[in-house]
Amino acid sequence: MDIIVLKRGAASKELRRIVKKLEAKGFKANISKGTERTVIGVIGDTSKITEDEGSAFQMMPGVEKIHRIIKPFKLASRDFKSRNTTIKIGRSTIGSKKIHVMAGPCAIESEPTLLKIAKEVKNAGATFIRGGAFKPRTSPYSFQGLREEGLKILAQARKKTGLPVVTELMDPRDIDAILKYADVIQIGARNMQNFRLLQEVGAHNKPVLLKRGLSATIKELLMAAEYIMAKGNNKVILCERGIRTFETATRNTLDLSAIPVLKNLTHLPVVVDPSHGAGKWDLVAPMAKAAIAAGADGLMIEVHSNPEEALSDGDQSLKPAKFKKLMKELKLVAKAVGREI
Ligand code: PEP
Ligand code: MN
Repeated sequence: MDIIVLKRGAASKELRRIVKKLEAKGFKANISKGTERTVIGVIGDTSKITEDEGSAFQMMPGVEKIHRIIKPFKLASRDFKSRNTTIKIGRSTIGSKKIHVMAGPCAIESEPTLLKIAKEVKNAGATFIRGGAFKPRTSPYSFQGLREEGLKILAQARKKTGLPVVTELMDPRDIDAILKYADVIQIGARNMQNFRLLQEVGAHNKPVLLKRGLSATIKELLMAAEYIMAKGNNKVILCERGIRTFETATRNTLDLSAIPVLKNLTHLPVVVDPSHGAGKWDLVAPMAKAAIAAGADGLMIEVHSNPEEALSDGDQSLKPAKFKKLMKELKLVAKAVGREI
């Protein structure tokens, strides 16, 4: 039920107009007249009232404010589905007691370098290999990725290690290639509100890792998930990867509070990317531990054998030995919060 609060001293003519409009839309109005003001309880399936229709009521004479009880995101909402969603990918189930770590380089650079990293992250306990073949670079002159060649290298890494592949799709025109090689489609922060792209991945059955936009609110992230789910694909994994704030000491501000907030609002699994979140390799371990402690279902971590030579995001990439040490420490944190890695 939504609630419409009328202005102090609203005219009965205004009240009648609102009730008439509600009834015309098939709702019933439950009017309660207090000493100060009148409140209308809207009875019926108010989840069908769109945001625009809600604003139309807000603009009517006599209306002070509208409280929407039903969230604008529906399929993604915990009100709609109370039990946590689990997503099975190969032998891994995301959203279960086990925390999954997706690790690998920012970009696929060559077959030998990727195979080396893939073996090392697997030995350390990662359960997914990550790496970009299509890279969303700020400068058009920076390395843009190996494209389909990179996807083939990822498939080789999966064959050699058994690790499922997470890789970014930037353009609906590349969907067929991505569907052929990826196990999880990553939608990058810069594309979180690329609605045509969201609808495209929503029309397939492949799990999607949806990264929070650089300046997106939690509600906007959930509305983006809703775009994918509304097309029929419920396999959405949310990813907090830091947001833009006034702070310049870190690349982004990793919003750890987003984890419990999301866990309250949605049944979808939540993964945290401390690499992009902090932007410096030495901040990755503390933020990864904090993310697990705060209830994340997984982590995405950039790892490179030779970060000084990396073609992108070397500053925030862990060397394999550091990653291995972190994985050991994470086991203890996971255990402390009733999870396992
Ligand atoms: C990435 O994962 O390498 C990446 C580009 O992430 P984001 O979209 O979060 O910046
Ligand atoms: Mn990166």
